[in-house]
Amino acid sequence: MAAALSGRRPAYRKFRNMQEKIVDLYHLLWQHFGPQGWWPGETPLEVAVGAILTQNTNWQNVALAIDRLKKAGVLSAAALMALPAAELAALIRPAGYYNIKAGRLKNFITYLMEKYQGSMAKLAAAPLARLRPELLAIKGIGPETADSILLYALDKPIFVVDAYTHRIFSRHGLTAGPYSYEGLQALCQAALPPDLALWQEFHALLVRTGKDCCRPRPRCESCPLAGFSPPLISSSAVGKKLAAQLI
Ligand code: SF4
Repeated sequence: MAAALSGRRPAYRKFRNMQEKIVDLYHLLWQHFGPQGWWPGETPLEVAVGAILTQNTNWQNVALAIDRLKKAGVLSAAALMALPAAELAALIRPAGYYNIKAGRLKNFITYLMEKYQGSMAKLAAAPLARLRPELLAIKGIGPETADSILLYALDKPIFVVDAYTHRIFSRHGLTAGPYSYEGLQALCQAALPPDLALWQEFHALLVRTGKDCCRPRPRCESCPLAGFSPPLISSSAVGKKLAAQLI
């Protein structure tokens, strides 16, 4: 967007349809940032635990909490099941909301033990169509957490939507109206093939873009999506400047 801010109107890309637009968005991010290597975690269970702990906090706090679980020797389904909730809460304290999150972890582990004998491999062997509703039925597991577990812990090709995704897509006119998790997910899944590596990278790349560039005050001048399509951010200072140049 540097060209627009310096006074020249950028040559925005032209697309024949929504699919082309989403594919192009993915490629622009991939070319700029490269592979993100998500999700950090030594085992599928650790990834699932991280997905639950990362709700409403940053990853550094989650990493601290997971490290404490490892040092205490309780990062296994059997050990987490046996651990009293208060002790679990104390161990995951760095992740914040530790009493609530301890309850959510316990709910997930109870489901894993009761339905899949505590085995993440058995869980991963079940079909996606069965797993998603099962995960969503666990108290405290919403769509973003369920889909993160499916995509990164269980290797199921599904698109994870988060606040960054919604912000980037809405600022580029890819979605309109009120936030709809399923609507945005369906839009992307219709545009791209069900390729596991692609879905894993796409979500990670959108998070990277949201953290580095598409913040509440957007940094369009350093964003790989500058020139993708005019951002609809007229309420911000940058947006006002852009809007004035785009008339
Ligand atoms: S920072 Fe600007 S160019 Fe980048 S995604 Fe956000 S609105 Fe688009």
